[in-house]
Amino acid sequence: MKSTSRRQFLKTAAVATGGLMAIRAAAWDFPNVEVAITPPLAVFEYPQVQLLEGILQQQLENNHKVYLNLDEDGLLKPFRQRQGMAAPGPDMGGWYDNGDDFNSQSNFHGFIPGHTFGQYVSGLARTYAVTGSKPTQAKVQRLVRGFAETVEPTGKFYVDYRLPGYTFDKTCCGLIDAHEFAQDPIALDVLKRATEAVLPHLPEKALSRAEQEARPHKSIAFTWDETYTLPENFFLAYRRSGDKRYLEVAKRFIYHEYYDALAENHNVLPGKHAYSHVNTFSSAMQAYLVLGDDKYLRAATNGLRMVHEQTYATGGWGPNEGFVEPGKGLLAASLKSTRSSFETPCGAYGQFKITRYLLRTTRDSRYGDSMERVLYNTIAGAKPMQADGTTFYYSDYNNDNGKKVYYKDKWPCCSGTFPQLTADYGISAYYPGDEGIYINLFIPSKVSWSQNRTPCTITQKTSYPRRIRRNCTSTSPVLKPSRCTCEFRLGQMRRAECPSTERKWRPRLSPVSF
Ligand SMILES: [Zn+2]
Repeated sequence: MKSTSRRQFLKTAAVATGGLMAIRAAAWDFPNVEVAITPPLAVFEYPQVQLLEGILQQQLENNHKVYLNLDEDGLLKPFRQRQGMAAPGPDMGGWYDNGDDFNSQSNFHGFIPGHTFGQYVSGLARTYAVTGSKPTQAKVQRLVRGFAETVEPTGKFYVDYRLPGYTFDKTCCGLIDAHEFAQDPIALDVLKRATEAVLPHLPEKALSRAEQEARPHKSIAFTWDETYTLPENFFLAYRRSGDKRYLEVAKRFIYHEYYDALAENHNVLPGKHAYSHVNTFSSAMQAYLVLGDDKYLRAATNGLRMVHEQTYATGGWGPNEGFVEPGKGLLAASLKSTRSSFETPCGAYGQFKITRYLLRTTRDSRYGDSMERVLYNTIAGAKPMQADGTTFYYSDYNNDNGKKVYYKDKWPCCSGTFPQLTADYGISAYYPGDEGIYINLFIPSKVSWSQNRTPCTITQKTSYPRRIRRNCTSTSPVLKPSRCTCEFRLGQMRRAECPSTERKWRPRLSPVSF
């Protein structure tokens, strides 16, 4: 893709007031830590964007309810058991339990004990930040305290554990989000101890599956670890804490073999596990932002383009969780051969993250198109999360009577990414930049910020995409001398119709249709 195509955003609105510097200090900008690259577009803080009535808000609310009511002893049980501590409370079931009956052919009970704990903490912390729900913040802080008691220096938890890197990546994310978004006072200290505990159980570098298979292993499931997704959250831990130790471990797990090939435009996707190899694009982007080497940006840009070259019409990808050889009709053939067409919550979460990074960095609106396509065609149609861990996992695109059904096992990976993604819907819709606000998703929502101490809001009321017409209201008072523009993403179709349209938005409280 071309690096910049700002003209593809339709410049329509003059909302008010001077430069946007005041709103640049958003949640994911960290002024204390030197980083190489500051993308032209930032993100708003979670509380600044509120979803209004609609299916996305319903998903957010349902996930909030389900995860707020999770049994805390149940969540901590695998950690307590593996440390030899008293472990009251229920077994959660599915992938989450300690168990000895797992086998990779037919039984995934006890596959990765406690794996999604960190994602539930992360989802709750972000949802607290969006909603301001005090019980949610209190739950995050109780879970972090409970988890802290299970952390000891040798990392007994990880002995004979199938996927230590995979689980720790989520734990790391949960702790940095508890610190950042739920103001947890001990989360960073716990992360420091937990990192010391896990390091002896991780390899010296990121390992591909082929490398894991070539090393001695207890069984095939021990070769499925995803150490190549670790850098993103380690870089974020560095940026949020200022502790250079995390910078060192982030660099240690950079997936050089994969990024180097992608940066050179070699398509090495075929045969690779799909979601984790999209998720690691976000690690490449953090490497780019922190270290400043363009190679990582090229790897992420080329990699996502190669994924786009093998997506279904919905925007989903990865039949049977794998990438296929492009140009051989294999994606079409998969419509007859599998019902595991797209790993929906995880895949959509990974796609939201990478398109958000690339949109912010390049301002290329086509990344917004990609996000929107996956939003409406995949995750917005996910069946609701159930309180007992029953989860929507695969979209089934099979030509023969494709059905929307729940997954066979409780508490799989997709139960971890779903609440993180629904919390991220709002911040994915609007992006502040020096020249104005970029409106990327046309979802019922309201964004609020303060400019020169003047409160400003933009409200979108819309039934898009069912109806193409959208109503947008600005309540920003008009202040001279300068104005802030709003840039609305023009979808693919609209770009074709009016490639260079520029329309000014009538300022001051007047509802505008476009
Ligand atoms: Zn999943």
